[in-house]
Amino acid sequence: MTAENILAETYPFVVRPLPYEYDALVPVLDEETLHFHHDKHYKTYVDNLNNVLSEYPELQNMSLKELLSDIEVLPAQVQTPIRNNGGGVFNHEFYFESMKNPVGQIPEGALAEAIEKDFGSYEKWKEQMKQAAVSKFGSGWAWLVSDPQGELSIIQTANQDVPDLNEFTPILPVDVWEHAYYLQYQNRRAEYVEGWFDLINWKKAAGRYESAVGNSK
Ligand code: MN
Repeated sequence: MTAENILAETYPFVVRPLPYEYDALVPVLDEETLHFHHDKHYKTYVDNLNNVLSEYPELQNMSLKELLSDIEVLPAQVQTPIRNNGGGVFNHEFYFESMKNPVGQIPEGALAEAIEKDFGSYEKWKEQMKQAAVSKFGSGWAWLVSDPQGELSIIQTANQDVPDLNEFTPILPVDVWEHAYYLQYQNRRAEYVEGWFDLINWKKAAGRYESAVGNSK
């Protein structure tokens, strides 16, 4: 599944199963953490988004991308719930799809080259990405994103806000809400983020990058 598939989803939204077993990300993320994160937190965003849209038939054919790209054109009373819950749906599906069992994956393809070009090296990129994730105050996300020319950058978003989808293609997300790590790591966010790098599904990230610059296979 790619970001494009996620963003094409429409009402009624369904809980996507994890693309791996609940113990697939051990030791970085344990089963209990994934069960709570996927089965409780993520599911709540899906349920809440469906509840909001159930009362607005005129919004039910809009894709997740359309709902999240121009929130200010939506009816005033649904803007905040769609921002929070629609963002929560996209961010979590994208996050879960971006990980795989930690078996020594490394950046590949044009994305690996772009990381070298835009950050100097994988290690320098990792340092900056980690800094963005660890320093995000409160609840939110750190992202690797690409612009349409293929230039990479690292951004942070607050709460369940998504990156500006008119400007960027998301490539990789790291969830730094406490619910993503607290059961296992308590307050040690940096340790969780360090482990997250071992979980990155670089094949998926490389495919997203190729789509972003328009030379998708
Ligand atoms: Mn989360």
